Amino acid sequence: MTDIFDKCKRTHYSNQISPENEGETVKVTGWVHEIRDLGGIVFLLLRDKNGITQITAPSKKVSAEMMEDIRAARKETIITVTGTVQKSPKAPNGIEIIPSNIDIINVAQLPLPLDTTEKVDAELDTRLDSRFIDIRKHDVSAIFKIKSQMLHTARNYFYDHDFTEITTPKLVASATEGGTELFPITYFEKEAFLGQSPQLYKQMMMATGLDNVFEIGQIFRAEEHDTLRHLNEALSIDAEMSFRSQEDAMNTLESLIKTILANIQENCAKELEDLGHELDIPTEPFPVVSYDKVLDIVNSHDVEMNYGDDLSRAAEKVLGEEMGSYYFITEWPMSIKPFYVMPSTKDPEISTSFDLMYRDLELSSGSQRIHDYDLLYSRLEAKDLNPDSFEKYLEAFKYGMPPHSGWGMGADRLTMVLTGSKNIRETVLFPRDRRRLTP
Ligand code: ATP
Ligand code: MG
Repeated sequence: MTDIFDKCKRTHYSNQISPENEGETVKVTGWVHEIRDLGGIVFLLLRDKNGITQITAPSKKVSAEMMEDIRAARKETIITVTGTVQKSPKAPNGIEIIPSNIDIINVAQLPLPLDTTEKVDAELDTRLDSRFIDIRKHDVSAIFKIKSQMLHTARNYFYDHDFTEITTPKLVASATEGGTELFPITYFEKEAFLGQSPQLYKQMMMATGLDNVFEIGQIFRAEEHDTLRHLNEALSIDAEMSFRSQEDAMNTLESLIKTILANIQENCAKELEDLGHELDIPTEPFPVVSYDKVLDIVNSHDVEMNYGDDLSRAAEKVLGEEMGSYYFITEWPMSIKPFYVMPSTKDPEISTSFDLMYRDLELSSGSQRIHDYDLLYSRLEAKDLNPDSFEKYLEAFKYGMPPHSGWGMGADRLTMVLTGSKNIRETVLFPRDRRRLTP
């Protein structure tokens, strides 16, 4: 008996066959995308990860037995077709295949939970419930191919710039930044939490002499928000660098984003086309706007914002209109930034922190961090946090901690920008929000 994998051994992916292959025998494998039976001729569209191939079976050229096999091939069934390439200007890639053999590999049940050929998309909830079929659609898989390319580029960027990749625990004993945003879990006889950020660990790594570290990992936020840009489990790209200033951290972030944009532009042309999305690629340095200036801009548009307020949604919208694509906001008040953020040398009420925005979307927050033990201790107290629960973190600052800076960037939010997705759920395989824990 022929091994099933021998039967599936394709000679070409759909996009690798062109009119130049006319007359050649090829073998293609994939899903039955669509069948049109016109009586004397059956057209079957076969889909694989790279595109679609038309199989054309005229009863004059194909045995009656094979005509029966083709007619029996249901939508989304896995089949293998061997046949001869023929030019066909109207078919995908300008070719069709006249079959000489068809193997039915695994039959799909009917009815399908989701139709891959629908012209109008199903509701997002329905799609997410059947995500494995949803991703068969090329305009959906394009998002994940671009996300993969983005992560690949980010990793390469860090490796090329002398960073060490780290992984830190997601099961943690106490809050990173205080607050109520934590998911409690049972850890044997103790209470523990899911990590909301690798912040404390990546800072502790600054005391190890590794100098530059990065982590790409999940963060968990127990916020009850129901927005298009928040999830309860998100992917974060985190970087932390010793002996580097706020400006150095901002430059690294900007140069990483520009490298990612150039790389996606070069390597994901088909995916961008499938999505009908054009990348917004800035050629100039990202503009920098101070928090004070932000207040002026927002207030001049009749949106209320007082000194010390974080950006409301309305304020973000105004800024998005005014500032264009990528821009930094700097000189935030200390009062709305986390305890580990270094105050500015010019004014202790002003922080060294920055946010990177894309229009009305926050992509990243970063800063120079406090490296001085006593200052860090007093900042914890000033934020009403109990230094005792940060004991192990604080120890790293006692025995030689370099000055350092860093940032965390939402990888799913960056994917929204790269793919033109309006809802963060589109950019996550299996999103976790207030209502969704499966699949
Ligand atoms: P926001 O104000 O938009 O809620 P944040 O300031 O609370 O974000 P940070 O703690 O600064 O978020 O986290 C760093 C980055 O991680 C953010 O800029 C964002 O890109 C991403 N991020 C944070 N929370 C979420 C979330 N709930 N879902 C998706 N991405 C998130
Ligand atoms: Mg932030």
